[in-house]
Amino acid sequence: MERGALAGGSAAAEVAGPAPTAALAEEERESCAGLWELPVERCERRPECGRCGRPQKVCLCPFLPVHPLKVSTCLYIIQHPAEESRVLRTVPLLVACLPPDKCKVLIGRRFSEDRYPELAAVCRNPSTLILYPGAEATNLEEIALMPSSPSVMIIIDGTWSQAKDIFYKNSLFRLPKQVQLKTNISSQYVIRTQPTNTCLSTLECAAVALTIMEKNKSIQEQCCFTLDFQG
Ligand SMILES: [Zn+2]
Repeated sequence: MERGALAGGSAAAEVAGPAPTAALAEEERESCAGLWELPVERCERRPECGRCGRPQKVCLCPFLPVHPLKVSTCLYIIQHPAEESRVLRTVPLLVACLPPDKCKVLIGRRFSEDRYPELAAVCRNPSTLILYPGAEATNLEEIALMPSSPSVMIIIDGTWSQAKDIFYKNSLFRLPKQVQLKTNISSQYVIRTQPTNTCLSTLECAAVALTIMEKNKSIQEQCCFTLDFQG
């Protein structure tokens, strides 16, 4: 399985975001959103591995990095509550790959300054980025070229419509600098479950973002290695 596709090609395809021409992007987004919103199988009875979140029979821990990856960027994953119960969720794998102090998961739809003072402080910090594609977003590759790289990134985990709802209805999330991934990488993971392979799983988005910010291609390989074994 070929990995590290980030290095090749012309970066023409925009990942997990609207294409420059709005009509096409909207169509793509709608088809993605529709699929994500299909009812998903829930694992109510199968015992799950506490680390990777997979059913024990298909535990992916042997394929995860032995030691947490050394990164200087801290990720805040904002997870829609519906995403937590999906079978094909990838955030537990991401959490298992990173040191506990570098990956924080907050579950919810609304994040007020009163209830989430720590998150509010993070959002107000000028070195924080939020990964959410759109016309206002800067390509992460450009940010990473700056002498002092930002140290915190917020990523929203959910379907397109869930992420849109979270982004636009929480004013805190419009404080950080908005960035997007612009690359021709294809998803290894969602290729089987989505009509377009330009929609990346949250694990892949995070791994690509970390690879760019940390300037270390092995991050993506190590984080996404487990996706080869998902089925
Ligand atoms: Zn496991």
